Amino acid sequence: MTIATPPLVSTNPASGEEVGRFPVADRAAVDAAVARAREAGHWWAGLGFAERRRRLLGWRALVTGRMTDVAELLHAETGKPVAEAVVETAAAISDIDWAARHARRVLRPRRVRRVLAVAEAAAHLEYRPYGVVGVIGPWNYPVLTPIGSIAYALAAGNAVVHKPSELTPAVGQWLADTFAELVPEHPVLQVVHGDGETGAALCLAGVDKLSFTGSTATAKRVMAACAQTLTPVVLEAGGKDAMIVAADADLDAAAQACVWGALTNAGQTCVGIERAYVAAGVYDAFLERVVERAGRLTVGAGDGADLGPITLPGQIDVIRRHLDDALARGARPVLGGPDTVRPPFVYPTILVDVPPDALAMREETFGPTLAVTPVDSMDEALRLANDSPYGLGGAVYAGRGAVALARRLRAGMVSVNDVLSFAGMTSLPWGGVGDSGFGRLRGADGLREFGQAKSIVVRQFPSLLPSRTFDRTERDVARIVKTYRLLFGRPPR
Ligand code: NDP
Repeated sequence: MTIATPPLVSTNPASGEEVGRFPVADRAAVDAAVARAREAGHWWAGLGFAERRRRLLGWRALVTGRMTDVAELLHAETGKPVAEAVVETAAAISDIDWAARHARRVLRPRRVRRVLAVAEAAAHLEYRPYGVVGVIGPWNYPVLTPIGSIAYALAAGNAVVHKPSELTPAVGQWLADTFAELVPEHPVLQVVHGDGETGAALCLAGVDKLSFTGSTATAKRVMAACAQTLTPVVLEAGGKDAMIVAADADLDAAAQACVWGALTNAGQTCVGIERAYVAAGVYDAFLERVVERAGRLTVGAGDGADLGPITLPGQIDVIRRHLDDALARGARPVLGGPDTVRPPFVYPTILVDVPPDALAMREETFGPTLAVTPVDSMDEALRLANDSPYGLGGAVYAGRGAVALARRLRAGMVSVNDVLSFAGMTSLPWGGVGDSGFGRLRGADGLREFGQAKSIVVRQFPSLLPSRTFDRTERDVARIVKTYRLLFGRPPR
């Protein structure tokens, strides 16, 4: 007798109401999905750039037409306000559009300049699809984060098997179902449901590349699993982003951006602002504005609330631990405090005097909390901001020299006089450094991430320097030496 695996039941984090039930994919089911994807991938790659672009733009239009439907689903599964869900979906739509429109330009076969040493041959470069790409996603932005991989992988000619978070299976299923309306012939985009075990099975199922978005701890497990088969990985992991506010910044704009950057999606944002370093001369004025704005925000399950619930119940313990630790080390709440943790909600909390070694300064809190610290100079701001194992995103508010500060922030993405603006800039690569992972999604780099560079060298004339043959003579070797001395032997003037 075989015992059927119970289905994955997705619920609303605020009300506990059931959103949907999904079959759990065990190892065999994941293997079967990857095998189907391999066949589908051959067909999809064979369609060519123009037809894939047509289908992807059709999907873009369909998702856009139904963006309020998916926003409602996002609201139901994550608890985030519908308005925030719409903003998330809008960025994902832009991703599909950019990937579809630019794949041919970035990845198509092209001639590359030959080098003089092999002047007899033409150099060709193209980016071939990997075949099957596995995409593992988190629950906090379950449309935007997987689409950052899925759209680019599909545009590059790969088939995709997506494992959404066990908290957001309905959203993952919606993505695959809507894509299938435009591409009904073959299962080019499939979804497999389950918890971390299903994700681990996907890493071992023979995918040709694995794109992971989630916590740093899981990223390490994914990389270790993929190492067994030398499966290449893209890892988009956690963050502890900082905002730097200079003395000549527009303080109203900076405070507005800081509050949204820290508290959007109730702080459950990989690129959310968790630390602010502010020039001492404007610190009080900035803090006052931040507290006033954050104090006005509403929290609740209703559609009109600014902040929804904490989606992952276990995260509430992390947030509480970080707050308790900060307060025990002498931090002061200027808005909220320990009583702001009222499961499943956490109210906006602004802390000052948080020592640099507190958990709230070192580890990802992933809640609606912000630590604000005065600094005597921008050098000190950079030193403190960069003193983190993470390096995902960040923001700089400043007048003169703002871009120079952004360059010195140890992060993969920085917004200047704005916050999280890179999240909408789908033409630019997305990704971090250090514990925030490696590899890039989006933009031309994001397309190349899902194509394998292939070099083809076509001989056109007899060799001027016959080096790749046993038939070469002593005179040929002397000519090679002479030519190389001529070409490369002189130091630069
Ligand atoms: P997790 O690391 O807990 O999970 C991410 C995904 O990995 C989930 O689908 C999870 O499944 C799956 N998973 C768990 N264990 C394994 C395993 N051993 N092998 C393969 N897959 C596994 O992250 P969260 O879902 O909690 O997401 C929040 C994290 O994601 C934060 O750290 C946040 O910063 C980060 N993030 C990073 C982004 C970026 O672009 N850099 C963007 C968005 C979020 P299941 O959940 O079902 O257990």
